[in-house]
Amino acid sequence: MSSQSPGHFSSKDIPVQPVSEYFGELTFGLGEMRERLPRDAFNDLTKALEQGRKLSKDTADAIAKVIMDWAVRKGATHFCHWFQPMTGLTAEKHDSFISIQHSHHSELKVIERFTGSMLIQGEPDASSFPSGGMRSTFEARGYTAWDPTSPIFIVENAVGAKTLCVPTVFFGYHGQALDNKTPLLRSVQALSKEACNFLKLLGDVDVKNVTATLGSEQEYFLIDRDVAARRPDLMMTGRTLLGAPTARGQKLEDHYFGAIPTRVLAFMEDLERELYRLGVPVKTRHNEVAPSQFELAPIFESMTIAADHNTLTMETMKRVAARHNLLCLLHEKPFAAINGSGKHCNWSMSNDKGENLLEPGHTPHQNLRFLAVSAVVIRAVHKHAGMLASAIMSPGNDLRLGGNEAPPTIISIFLGSMLEKIFETIAKGEATQGSERGIINLGVSHIPDISKDYTDRNRTSPFAFTGNKFEFRAVGASANVAVPMSVLNAAVTDALAEASTRLKAIQAKVANRDDAVLALVRELINENKGILFSGNNYSSEWREEAKRRGLPIIDSAADAFAYWNNEKATEFLVATSVLSREEIQSRYVVQMERYIKTLEIELDTTVTLVNEYVVPAVENQLKRSQDVVREVRSEALKSQLNKRVAGLEGIFVDLLAGGELLSKALDKLNETHDEVAKVALLVRDCKPLAAKLRAAADRAEQEVADELWNLPKYREMLFHPSMK
Ligand code: ADP
Ligand code: MG
Repeated sequence: MSSQSPGHFSSKDIPVQPVSEYFGELTFGLGEMRERLPRDAFNDLTKALEQGRKLSKDTADAIAKVIMDWAVRKGATHFCHWFQPMTGLTAEKHDSFISIQHSHHSELKVIERFTGSMLIQGEPDASSFPSGGMRSTFEARGYTAWDPTSPIFIVENAVGAKTLCVPTVFFGYHGQALDNKTPLLRSVQALSKEACNFLKLLGDVDVKNVTATLGSEQEYFLIDRDVAARRPDLMMTGRTLLGAPTARGQKLEDHYFGAIPTRVLAFMEDLERELYRLGVPVKTRHNEVAPSQFELAPIFESMTIAADHNTLTMETMKRVAARHNLLCLLHEKPFAAINGSGKHCNWSMSNDKGENLLEPGHTPHQNLRFLAVSAVVIRAVHKHAGMLASAIMSPGNDLRLGGNEAPPTIISIFLGSMLEKIFETIAKGEATQGSERGIINLGVSHIPDISKDYTDRNRTSPFAFTGNKFEFRAVGASANVAVPMSVLNAAVTDALAEASTRLKAIQAKVANRDDAVLALVRELINENKGILFSGNNYSSEWREEAKRRGLPIIDSAADAFAYWNNEKATEFLVATSVLSREEIQSRYVVQMERYIKTLEIELDTTVTLVNEYVVPAVENQLKRSQDVVREVRSEALKSQLNKRVAGLEGIFVDLLAGGELLSKALDKLNETHDEVAKVALLVRDCKPLAAKLRAAADRAEQEVADELWNLPKYREMLFHPSMK
């Protein structure tokens, strides 16, 4: 560590103190409110939360006062409304707490002031946030409103400045959602309502509330910051646009679960401490499959909080990495030829008793509920596979999932042999037999007893059952989880509503409730078998098989956008009140704009790198090689060297010709003004041309002397000595 830049952090700087003593010390949630607010104000707040109504001005002012007192005592000087615009990351606009008080001697006096209205509503200059055309200029206002369900927190930046962050939603003049948080809040509400209806039909008559739960495993790369700073592509786009893969790559698979490098461990400990102070319950850390790739996973929480915590985690990772002279890459495919980074979203639901609805239980009733809910999820994923695949689309995930090296996005479910077997038996209408591994017939209404089975895993499945939850693995590392989770919640809500209707119809004919539920499970499984797949999702046979089964295949961003623009495919989002027609349309436009801009930046940067780095390096190498040819006397050597020179000349031709073709394609793109046409040009013409150009540049890298090559290579980034 001593060789790194000054001001470097070591885990010795972290005080030894039990986590429980400082966990959440930078947050202010309902617990703190209860402690510090006058009782009337707190009661008013809880009632407002329960009934979803507005706070009175007095209560809001009282809350603002205790929050400000707390924050100022912690050293905060500014506050901001923290929100999640459709661009994916978070946004904040800082205002200082200070306010001028005019005394009657007309002296100016500075005081700290934070009122209820400052807490509750803000109006950032929203005109530069994307709205997908939803706001016309005369009403280009956007408002932020406090979301009291998510704790307020204080963030400290690198130089020690502290800002109070108020989690907010962001919406337009007519209440249109301009952010990712609003649809998520709506979706958990819709899910709770339909899940309660369904559970009541199963016999859980007293259920009042169902909570969606989420634990998101975050993968990331760490690169030495000094090395990264010499890669314009990493700086501009978050990924490498050129670079020959190393011979080693991830062949040895020795990095996975190996000992964590000291420098990385120091980063992780610092990061964890920061996250604990912010109330984020991070739990596991380990190396991932690719070199310099790592993973962090929290303990799951109620979904809306978990989603805020994941965005906060991503921001904190970047901030803490800088302190360790590291660059944290959250891009889905920063390096070619090695694994990309995902964010496995572990998803489940629990009732108000805290029972996990996807957990096989101890009683026949719990098991039946587990089977019924699982069958509904299978139905949901089958029915809305296209939209689920489209909800995870991003320029980066496009490379991770649909790219040259990766399989296309086809959503399928892996159940594991235990659940598969049970569903098979039920589907066949056979009573379950006492059989292997804990599956025994209880003799009660033919309901099998189920035990958790963590033994088999299928790493290639995009949506897998893992014992007591489903794991949506196709989500990209940089994604705001609110987007895919809103769509998943809405899909399950839709399937729950449908299942309730069907169950009522069955119950009208079948007297025994358990038998009726089993009949429903049987129907759902038989009708939705097509989504189940336990083979290798990366194989070309699966693509053919999926086609035969009629499953949607998302080959590129263009396919995903078509889904967002398809009224039939998105109808369930409207029906569940998660997004309005207008909001869906705006998301469609915003995502396309973002995709186009991202690719334009990448393609321009590729051309720049080739012109500024690769071509000059090849020129120098050619000069050098030709000098040698001139000076040697051996004819045999001359002929060998000439072969090399010819090879280099061939690469040079490919570089210049390839650069020209790509530049022409980019000119054509500039002349095109329709977004759909632009996406088509990018996917069909520009991306393949850029791939060809890259291939030529990567061949050049292997032919040019290292001392003439000015871009740090994959080996320097991925196998940096300080990361071992
Ligand atoms: P596994 O090894 O099966 O992936 P872990 O316990 O390591 O299981 O969990 C992985 C992630 O799933 C963690 O973030 C964990 O908190 C989360 N998780 C566990 N149970 C649930 C649940 N009921 N709902 C949502 N996430 C869950
Ligand atoms: Mg993982």
